[in-house]
Amino acid sequence: MTIQRAAELIGGARRGLALTGAGVSAESGIPTFRGAGGLWTRYDPVKVASIEYFMADPSAYWSVSKDRGSVALAARPNPGHHALAALETSGRLVAVVTQNTDGLHQASGSRTVIEVHGSSRTVECLDCGNREPRGDVQARLDMEMPPRCRICGGIFLKPTVVLFGEPLPRAAIQQAFTLAREADVMLVVGSSLVVYPAADIPLVAARSGAQLIVINAEPTPFDELAAIVIRGKSGEVLPEIVELIGG
Ligand code: NAD
Ligand code: ZN
Repeated sequence: MTIQRAAELIGGARRGLALTGAGVSAESGIPTFRGAGGLWTRYDPVKVASIEYFMADPSAYWSVSKDRGSVALAARPNPGHHALAALETSGRLVAVVTQNTDGLHQASGSRTVIEVHGSSRTVECLDCGNREPRGDVQARLDMEMPPRCRICGGIFLKPTVVLFGEPLPRAAIQQAFTLAREADVMLVVGSSLVVYPAADIPLVAARSGAQLIVINAEPTPFDELAAIVIRGKSGEVLPEIVELIGG
């Protein structure tokens, strides 16, 4: 059986690496961008999630971001996050590279989390550099739109996520590719694998000899390259794999 084979590969991994996308947090109630029910069926992402849009009108940005922020702040890790944390604790995974910005891997106990698209848990003032927890900014959105910097009064308060048109965090990307080259098993979970350069990470791992395992609700462009493809929900499949490995 496919899940059994995946458990064998992951159970034997010495330098396993996971790449996760929005799908792992779907069962925590955070909508994905693409795929069935994805947010991008409602918004034009390149518009509302671009740095140009933010700089042109921070209020417009925050009015879209407001609801999403309260959902993400209230979300809790699901069994998929917990299973990945358990695989790190038991030595099967060296790290989780994530395209998610929600902080749920850290909340579930994963220790080495490489956030290639930044974090939405913190907000930074682009004028003075002051940082605040997202929750503090979120709490004043009903009174203040756009939210203003507590230190300098500036209106360009931006979550520390990578928006379209912004560079990726160089150190995180370098670390992710280094781990991909060293990986013996590469697990990709809940990612449509169409956002670059994140999607190059499993490609580099596979070219460097890693066995690729894809767990996703829908087909991905990398399925043909994978040793194992499991079509399912990460919150169900991952705990099953951990159970089969057994400690
Ligand atoms: P995506 O939204 O493009 O694709 C998500 C994929 O997950 C889809 O292929 C879908 O079929 C699959 N999926 C949905 N539910 C699943 C489940 N329960 N189990 C397994 N698979 C499931 O996500 P992406 O590839 O991560 O890229 C989108 C970009 O959006 C990323 O850059 C990320 O920064 C950002 N994003 C982040 C969050 C978050 O932080 N939680 C949420 C949405 C989008
Ligand atoms: Zn400021």
